[in-house]
Amino acid sequence: MRDNTLCVQHPHISRDGFASLAVPTYRASTIVYPDAQSFLDRKHRGPDGYTYGLHGTPTTRTLEAQISALHGAERTMLVPSGQAAVSMVFLGLLTPGDRVLIPDNVYPPVRNFCAEYLRPRGIAFAVYDPMIGAGIADLIDDRTRLVWVESPGSGTMEVQDLPAIAEAAHARGALVGIDNTWATGLLFKPLDHGADIVSEALTKYVGGHSDLLLGSISVRDLGIRKKIKDVLGMLGIGVSPDEAALALRGIETMAVRLAHMGRVSVDMARRLAASPLIEKVLHPALPSCPGHEVFLRDFKGASGLFSVVLKPAAAERLAAGMDALKVFAIGASWGGTRSLLAPQLIGQDRSVTPWPHKGPLLRISIGLEDPEDLWADLQHMLAVLAG
Ligand SMILES: *Cc1c(COP(=O)(O)O)cnc(C)c1O
Repeated sequence: MRDNTLCVQHPHISRDGFASLAVPTYRASTIVYPDAQSFLDRKHRGPDGYTYGLHGTPTTRTLEAQISALHGAERTMLVPSGQAAVSMVFLGLLTPGDRVLIPDNVYPPVRNFCAEYLRPRGIAFAVYDPMIGAGIADLIDDRTRLVWVESPGSGTMEVQDLPAIAEAAHARGALVGIDNTWATGLLFKPLDHGADIVSEALTKYVGGHSDLLLGSISVRDLGIRKKIKDVLGMLGIGVSPDEAALALRGIETMAVRLAHMGRVSVDMARRLAASPLIEKVLHPALPSCPGHEVFLRDFKGASGLFSVVLKPAAAERLAAGMDALKVFAIGASWGGTRSLLAPQLIGQDRSVTPWPHKGPLLRISIGLEDPEDLWADLQHMLAVLAG
């Protein structure tokens, strides 16, 4: 071979004896075939075979298998974000004329997706009270193909009765999907509690370091898997092996991070509950949170995200209080090593369950800092709020 050819052909080297604990990052668009016939037959490799980088590499498949193992799922599909993990389920399972039910506390971009993308294309949606439980039966008509659950719900943290909702939905022939980002497969396994589909933002606890975006969709039924996987292929949705590799690193420490963050979040929530400036603490592990009994029944423990509702009087000094924070950072997303705090406007996102509180809601994500530094920072903020 001449020099230019030598430049593009990597020499074969022995891998004998090389046993690393790390999962290699396999980058690929092209996948080559041993002969002409195997290339022509590539469609027969099926959704688990390797045919093209977009459809999976050993790196992404390893992460998929790991998420599946945590959930007791048959298969998991990776998508570029947690939002895509929800929207791709809807696009895979709903066609014009169908209807989907979403809870009133749903991650706001999901409501927007239903109103601004699905509805103009003939897919209807209706919003339900997240505490509805078996009462969901009354909302399921012949067109309802999917009941979406998010538990605990974004911002307001209601814990939904998934088994009751799933039983009612299945009795009427609807599928049930759930956004399980808060709990991860470590604290709640929705497929064991009636869900057909589990979506998660791996961006949060699996990634764990605020530096990647990734989502997962896990299922037991291979027919559901095929519908969603086909849509991913047709739309050209795949994920980078580099993101998957970061997530594979993150997931190794997820259990210890989550155990610590859960412990500290419960401790902080209890301490905050004693403040005269706080009207209500919304932490699934505390009795003040709607659905607390369901949390005790179904979940293995708490993660690190919760919310507090401030008294209306504290609202006018909220910006000054937040600006005084030195340990907490201000920002959206969560689940990383840095503790975060974000104000949320809840009233505007509600349509069937009016939000009873006048004061602002603060969402708190506990990170890995020393808990006493976090508490001192929160006390400092509360002192500014008190004026
Ligand atoms: C963050 C989040 C998402 C979206 O995840 P991205 O990766 O940021 O798109 C979806 N659902 C819930 C509950 C979330 O908290």
